[in-house]
Amino acid sequence: MTKLPVQVPDYHIHTKLCGHASGEMEDYVREAERRGLSEIGFSDHMPLIHMEPGSLTMEKEQLPLYVDEVLRLKDRWKIPAIKLGLEVDYIPGQEEEVAGILDRYEFDFVHGGVHFLGDWIVDHPDQVSEFDRRDLRKVHEDYFRLVTGAAGTGLFDVIPHMDVIKKFGHRTGSDILSVVAPAIEAISQGGLCVEVSTAGLRKPVREIYPSREILEACFEARIPITLGSDAHTPQDVAHKFEKLLDLVRSVGYREVMSFSGRTHAPVAI
Ligand code: ZN
Ligand code: FE
Ligand code: FE
Ligand code: ZN
Repeated sequence: MTKLPVQVPDYHIHTKLCGHASGEMEDYVREAERRGLSEIGFSDHMPLIHMEPGSLTMEKEQLPLYVDEVLRLKDRWKIPAIKLGLEVDYIPGQEEEVAGILDRYEFDFVHGGVHFLGDWIVDHPDQVSEFDRRDLRKVHEDYFRLVTGAAGTGLFDVIPHMDVIKKFGHRTGSDILSVVAPAIEAISQGGLCVEVSTAGLRKPVREIYPSREILEACFEARIPITLGSDAHTPQDVAHKFEKLLDLVRSVGYREVMSFSGRTHAPVAI
């Protein structure tokens, strides 16, 4: 892939520690360099607190190794700059335990993502039939209630793949904005960023997360954005970022956020 027209960060990168990604961490960095990214932010899945990792996340004892490895790369590479992030599952009731884990390390940014509605992993391909058993309006309300909750915890900097609930093509109907509005309000109040992600382009929905409609509402609410590919293989780094930049610019955004030590600063696009 060729170099991008502007130098931007990709802040959603996984590693093979999670059990469902491939390639060496350095391969992701080299791809970021090839694509002309200014920064690459690792954001692997934090070990789950309430269940065995299976192939969803790294093991609990691997978290320090993950952090060490990212910090080692950070020392070695200047361009792209390496950032230490983490993708945390927001699960109500786990706030204190998550806070304790986050306090142990010098993260640059932390994603608060919703993948669980109770026991149901809403973005898991093996559990997609659950959509047929539920009322779709209710599913969307439940999902965005959790996004709202995540934004209100004060634990997170970025809401990743904000409407991942559409991943397999399910829709709630025409008034998605009324369902999403409380989440946008909470994100704005909490001073969080929304991630704009190309991962959805590789999924059945074939759409960037979040949708243009939701992104426009975020822009009106003056919510800053980060960019992410949700790479689970080195070739995914900055995947379709040309298209991503077209979308965010057409909505009105002229900057994306860069994070260091959990504070953000704008990068012009
Ligand atoms: Zn993953
Ligand atoms: Fe995720
Ligand atoms: Fe991810
Ligand atoms: Zn993700």
